[in-house]
Amino acid sequence: MTDTLPREAEYVVVGGGTAGNVVAARLAEAGLDVLVLEAGPDFGAEGSEAWPADLIDATRLGRSHDWGYDSGSTYPWPVRFERARAIGGSSDFNGCTQTWGHRRDYDSWAERGLAGWSADELSPLFDEGTRRMRVRQYRPDELTPWQNAWYEAAPFVGIPQVPDLNNLDEAVGFAPEAVNIQDGVRVNSAFAYLDPARGLHNLTVVGDALVDRVMIDNGRATGVVVRHHGAVHTVYAHTVILAGGTYNSPTILLRSGIGPYSQLAPLDIDVVEHLPGVGENLHDQPFLLMSWEGSDEMTRAMAAARAAGWAPDEQAMGKAASSFEHEAFDLHFLPYSPTHRGDAKRWSIGTSALQPRSRGFVRVQSADPEAKPVIDHRFLSDSEGVDVAMLVEGAEILRELAASPALAPLVGPEIHPGPESFSREALVAHIYRHPDNYWHPVGTCAMGVASDRSAVVDARARVHGIEGLRVADCSIMPQIPRATTAMPAIVVGERVAGFLLEEAMSR
Ligand SMILES: Cc1cc2nc3c(=O)[nH]c(=O)nc-3n(C[C@H](O)[C@H](O)[C@H](O)COP(=O)(O)OP(=O)(O)OC[C@H]3O[C@@H](n4cnc5c(N)ncnc54)[C@H](O)[C@@H]3O)c2cc1C
Repeated sequence: MTDTLPREAEYVVVGGGTAGNVVAARLAEAGLDVLVLEAGPDFGAEGSEAWPADLIDATRLGRSHDWGYDSGSTYPWPVRFERARAIGGSSDFNGCTQTWGHRRDYDSWAERGLAGWSADELSPLFDEGTRRMRVRQYRPDELTPWQNAWYEAAPFVGIPQVPDLNNLDEAVGFAPEAVNIQDGVRVNSAFAYLDPARGLHNLTVVGDALVDRVMIDNGRATGVVVRHHGAVHTVYAHTVILAGGTYNSPTILLRSGIGPYSQLAPLDIDVVEHLPGVGENLHDQPFLLMSWEGSDEMTRAMAAARAAGWAPDEQAMGKAASSFEHEAFDLHFLPYSPTHRGDAKRWSIGTSALQPRSRGFVRVQSADPEAKPVIDHRFLSDSEGVDVAMLVEGAEILRELAASPALAPLVGPEIHPGPESFSREALVAHIYRHPDNYWHPVGTCAMGVASDRSAVVDARARVHGIEGLRVADCSIMPQIPRATTAMPAIVVGERVAGFLLEEAMSR
């Protein structure tokens, strides 16, 4: 940790988040000269007292150090799009669920001509990410009563109990989660990847360093312009790797003049490379949270679980298939049981449509790096209405489960969406009126071959048309895997680091 900004580095990683830390650590471990520039604070190594309690506490989601993004006036009320602004990035905030998705997700990337991204090629990287992130599998006997009730009930709707969720060949199943939690601590990517490399003389990590834009000379990235402690600096680099996440990597590109003419010209940003796909193809899995009034027995049992010392909000998960999916799964069920809220008679489970058709965008409104971007997910906007239909089917399965003999004695009346949306028509209307996200935005700097006009980076994460510039985070996923995206983000970091190392060794 340092407060001094170097004037140059061989590799500058922009964003010390989930994927960025993987890239930085791998390059530094190989002896290369690496500088990480993180817009938020660097709290130092694991165990440092500077780490805020909410970012460490794995029983619930982190809240402090948020970028403060939301849907603005897109919907009748703002939908928050949380992202952590601190070393560790959104791995500081998340629910610690580690899922991989299905083989088809990654094979479909490879089928787009993206060499190196098939499930078989990524599988060892998932294993390595799992090891580094200290992922462990909950046992069924560790589940709190609310989590266990859904796990036990799953077979009533034909969803088998399975040992874990991360078999890439498996379709439906309900299982205790795999989580990156050790001794109650959320193991973020800074702890898992940066810390072992922090002592290396060739790795520098600078917090409170907001990268404004990439400097480009004759089609080659030469460094970045960065705001540090209120002053503007330039840092020169051989290679710049953007890892600002799905909302911010495209905004850095846009401020650097890389993006669609139509967007840059009105903002007086000189166009360096016309790439129409920058900021487009934004998608996340739409989400519906359902709540029931728990029985007195459930209230007592959950209070007892909390008193016993460990009652995290999330612990189990189901994979299910809607009528739109015939080979794998396209729904998640996520029991959610926040004992800290004090609302002891209300328990929830969410469903999410994992393969959404709708696409939105991220756009800059000004060249000021502190200005919030416009983020419009255009949730549930697909003209066929498939996204809403998948969520409706998910909700119907959950209602069937709630009424099953295993669950019925434990849950009372449905509170949300509630009796006024019991008909399918009313449920559709409810979901359209209450769009929500699953915290997994991807796609705004999508990988694609050079002939794909919407592609932003190639299969080696190189920005099309610009030398010495890469993107390594969830933004490069051309299509979302049917997974929560923390481990896929780690895998993106591992994959891009592998490409960079191969090239460095052959120089
Ligand atoms: C509340 C919440 C709960 C979640 N729960 C889960 C879960 O349980 N399981 C799961 O798998 N996934 C979960 N996710 C999603 C997962 O955490 C993210 O998909 C993943 O962490 C994103 O990784 P990333 O590297 O793309 O971006 P991030 O981890 O967000 O990293 C981006 C980094 O870049 C920095 N940065 C951005 N702009 C700049 C700039 N201009 N200059 C310098 N630095 C910059 C940011 O501050 C940040 O540190 C959750 C996410 C949230 C927000």
